Amino acid sequence: KPVIIIVVGMAGSGKTTFLHRLVCHTLSSNIRGYVLNLDPAVTTLPFGANIDIRDTVRYKEVMKEYNLGPNGGILTSLNLFATKFDEVISVIERRADQLDYVLVDTPGQIEIFTWSASGAIITEAFASTFPTVIAYVVDTPRSANPVTFMSNMLYACSILYKTRLPLVLVFNKVDVAKHEFALEWMEDFEAFQAAIETDSSYTSTLTRSLSLVLDEFYKNLKSVGVSAVSGTGMEAFFSAIEASAEEYMENYKVDLDKRR
Ligand code: GDP
Ligand code: MG
Repeated sequence: KPVIIIVVGMAGSGKTTFLHRLVCHTLSSNIRGYVLNLDPAVTTLPFGANIDIRDTVRYKEVMKEYNLGPNGGILTSLNLFATKFDEVISVIERRADQLDYVLVDTPGQIEIFTWSASGAIITEAFASTFPTVIAYVVDTPRSANPVTFMSNMLYACSILYKTRLPLVLVFNKVDVAKHEFALEWMEDFEAFQAAIETDSSYTSTLTRSLSLVLDEFYKNLKSVGVSAVSGTGMEAFFSAIEASAEEYMENYKVDLDKRR
C-alpha cells in the first residue's frame, strides 16, 4: 500500500515548491509517486497532478455562485470536493499495487485545510485506508525569531493532537538559513528560554509554560532540514516518512481497528 504524505504549513512556507521537489525526486529515484492537488486557487502548478481539485470545482465560479470572498470560495470548493472524496480513495486503491507514495498539496492558507470539516474528512478518509503521515513545512528563515518559532510549533502541535497522525517537521529554505538553531531549541529547553528572554515584551511565565508543553510535543516527532529550491534533504525526508509510516502501523492503525 502507498504511504500518503499530506503537506501542510503556513502560507508561503513553500508547500507547493516542496511538493514539486518531491515529484522530481521520485521521478529520478524510481520511486512511484501519485500527485494530488487540493488547492483550488493555485493558478499554475509547477508539477503535473494526477488528480487536481481544479478539474472538478472552479473556484472563481464557486465565489460568484455563492457570493463569497477568496477564502470562502476556497473553503466551499474544498467542501464540494470532500463530498466526492470516496471516489478519490477508490482511484488510489485501484492503483495501490503500483504506487509507493501519494503526495498531497493543500491550500496556501493553513487553516482552510487544518481547521475545516472537509480537511478533517479528507484526512480521515486517507488515514482509515492507507498509512498516512503529515509533513508540516516550516519557513526556517522566518522562524529564527523565537516567538514566531513558538507560534509555529504550537500550530504544528495542535495538528498532531487533532489528527493523531505521525508528523514530520520539514524545516524548509535551509539554502537561506540553516535549521540548526531550531534543533538546538527543540533539544535544549534552556537554550530556547535564553533566546526568548532576549525579547522582553513577552511574559516569561507564559512562554515558559508553553515551551514546557512543546518540550513534550518534540519527543513525538521527527524533524528534517530541506531546501525545496536546491533539493537538499530529500533522502532524510523519505527516511523520516518511512519511520513515520511504521509508527502509523503501530499506533494509529491499532486504534482504528479497536474502534471498528
Ligand atoms: P506555499 O504557499 O506554502 O505553497 O508556498 P510556495 O511553494 O508557493 O512558496 C512560497 C515562496 O517561497 C515562493 O516564492 C518560493 O519560491 C519560495 N520558496 C519555497 N521553497 C523555498 C526554498 O527551499 N528556498 C528558498 N530560498 N525559497 C523557497
Ligand atoms: Mg501552495
